[in-house]
Amino acid sequence: MPRARVGFVSQLTDQQREINRIASFITKGATKYARHTGHFVLVHVPSVAPIASFASVALLLIPYFLGVVLISLLLRVIMENVLILGTGCAGLTAAIYTARANLRPLIIEGVQPGGQLTTTSEVENFPGFPEGVDGFELMDRLRKQAAKFGTRFQSDYIERVDLSGPEKILHSATTAYKTKALIIATGASPKMLGVPGEKEMFGGKGVTTCATCDGAFYRGMEVAVAGGGDSACEEALFLTRFCSKIYLIHRRDELRASGIMAKRTLENPKIHPIWDTHIERVLEDKEGHVRGLALKHKKTEVASEIAIKGLFVAIGHMPNTQAFAGALPLDDQGYFVPTAGSAVRTKVPGVFVAGDCADHVYRQAVTAAGLGCQAAIEAERWLAEHE
Ligand code: NAP
Repeated sequence: MPRARVGFVSQLTDQQREINRIASFITKGATKYARHTGHFVLVHVPSVAPIASFASVALLLIPYFLGVVLISLLLRVIMENVLILGTGCAGLTAAIYTARANLRPLIIEGVQPGGQLTTTSEVENFPGFPEGVDGFELMDRLRKQAAKFGTRFQSDYIERVDLSGPEKILHSATTAYKTKALIIATGASPKMLGVPGEKEMFGGKGVTTCATCDGAFYRGMEVAVAGGGDSACEEALFLTRFCSKIYLIHRRDELRASGIMAKRTLENPKIHPIWDTHIERVLEDKEGHVRGLALKHKKTEVASEIAIKGLFVAIGHMPNTQAFAGALPLDDQGYFVPTAGSAVRTKVPGVFVAGDCADHVYRQAVTAAGLGCQAAIEAERWLAEHE
């Protein structure tokens, strides 16, 4: 005789009665099925008596699921074929090449998406733009080109790395990224003078490193630019659009900038060079904003002051390589040192470097893009050999 065995609780609350009703419905169906087919059917509905209600079940489950979500967010491990750090010219060019090679790169953009060129005004020397191109627009185009071929973008900041195993592991505050090949194109950040008042008034109080970003706030005012290279000249020239007078304060008696840039700068009537001079301190007004600079002549040691409302620091850049100290060789200025015979390969197989973090000689947008291309091709070949 075909049988259906049923076990369910008969107590007590409305919710449990509802469960029992459903269980009864299921077991009736199961009994019919057993009679019809002659198969033995066991239906077991476990007791829920110790649990007072659905509400209490939900209350118990919510923190459980939240915990699971939180832990999985905290310990999220993402495995990649190619991971690229940095979205400047080098990183985005590497992304275009690896994406076109169907490697679906993941690119991590840090604190300055688009890199240094996004803070530049006109770029006149990038090939293919006879009229010049706005730095932000150029980077936006590179980004769109990388995305078009399947590059994935992620905002994060890598704090430490483990490059000792076959899979490279990169840690941010919340995520561990694992990748077979790694292209580091973390660029460089502006150097600061390190004098009293500079840090205190950095940002909205009068000290800045970006004329393109902040120049318009100083309309009709007198300002100073620190430095003697192409960046300082570019900043000073850009500021002539807004400011009434720009002091260019340089520690030597000639500019380091390229000939054409130096000529343009020195011929501009709004720009007043102050040679052989160190900035000793940034002076503040009662509201804590910049009111002037304390200066000292390098040769005569004569001290002086100038009244200005804004200081634009343009004295070069530091490579963003701190997270890799110990894992990869760095030179005395902190730049990556590629292995002999290559501009992009490192001593760790599968790890490549490109752009301003590894180049203190050329440091141009076009050379960074070229290095990004080299790193991508090397990574592609390395993956093909090791798959
Ligand atoms: P840079 O060429 O290294 O020049 C830095 C300037 O700051 C130098 O004049 C240096 O003085 C001065 N300086 C450095 N540390 C200082 C300190 N602690 N106190 C006072 N002065 C200090 O840097 P950059 O101008 O940023 O240019 C970097 C590269 O990018 C260069 O290759 C440049 O050609 C390129 N670039 C090109 C363009 C363009 O073509 N449109 C624009 C910007 C940059 P000393 O001269 O005494 O060393």
